Amino acid sequence: MRVPLVAGNWKMNKTVGEALAFVSGLNPLLSDETRKRGWPEILICPPFTAVPAVSAALANTEVKVGAQNLSWEKKGAYTGEVSGLMLKDCGCEYVIVGHSERRHILGETDEVIGKKVRAALDCGLKPILCVGETLEEREAGQTLELCRRQTEQGLSAVKPEEIASVVVAYEPVWAIGTGKEAKPDDAEEVIDSIRDTMGKMFGDAAADVRVLYGGSVKSGNIRGFMVKETIDGALIGGASLDPEEFLRIVSEVLKTRVAPKDFGQGE
Ligand code: PEP
Repeated sequence: MRVPLVAGNWKMNKTVGEALAFVSGLNPLLSDETRKRGWPEILICPPFTAVPAVSAALANTEVKVGAQNLSWEKKGAYTGEVSGLMLKDCGCEYVIVGHSERRHILGETDEVIGKKVRAALDCGLKPILCVGETLEEREAGQTLELCRRQTEQGLSAVKPEEIASVVVAYEPVWAIGTGKEAKPDDAEEVIDSIRDTMGKMFGDAAADVRVLYGGSVKSGNIRGFMVKETIDGALIGGASLDPEEFLRIVSEVLKTRVAPKDFGQGE
């Protein structure tokens, strides 16, 4: 079963104090249902410096914590890097890999991203692999081909028995932080194509992989994406910085995707 995932990416925002203020704002807003049942799964990815504090502050809730990047190595002489083992040690369950800002501003290649996905799995973390085209690539009709390549290379070192632990986020670069979200029909087409690529790589196991949409998601537009069966949730930047708006998005997801009656029973 693909449990919907609502993931916040804070990017380089919030000091530890600001991050804890967010959690204090979020906690009273979490309904008992969300708190206990874990449907949808809620994830926050603070900057590294706030991960331990946020993780400790959310310890009694169902809200999970992730990081925004990791090294492809587990330890050693890599000044300034943070390894998956360290993230796991600080309470992370997920890690974002290959976000477009890392690809386009910091020069990460598909090869590096593939190594990071592998490293995440080796350290017991669930990678969220981001793929997506620039405006020029979309206008040149290269979207599906580009996302196919990024998916294939990003997942090249993943084994079929591991693929269900991976999440893919389709994030068109032109939609990130611009206030211009993709049309849900267009996102659906790309995500179907990403699923098709994963099916060729991993067979039936690919059906369990969650694929999110990301790019200017807010409470006012999330429904349009969630009514598409192929879209399993969202990766949210700007709108995840405010606890009230973030939980409005969660509650829209809850309204659109109702948990199966037996979900969470007997755990
Ligand atoms: C992101 O950072 O992954 C993102 C989608 O940002 P925003 O929601 O602000 O467009």
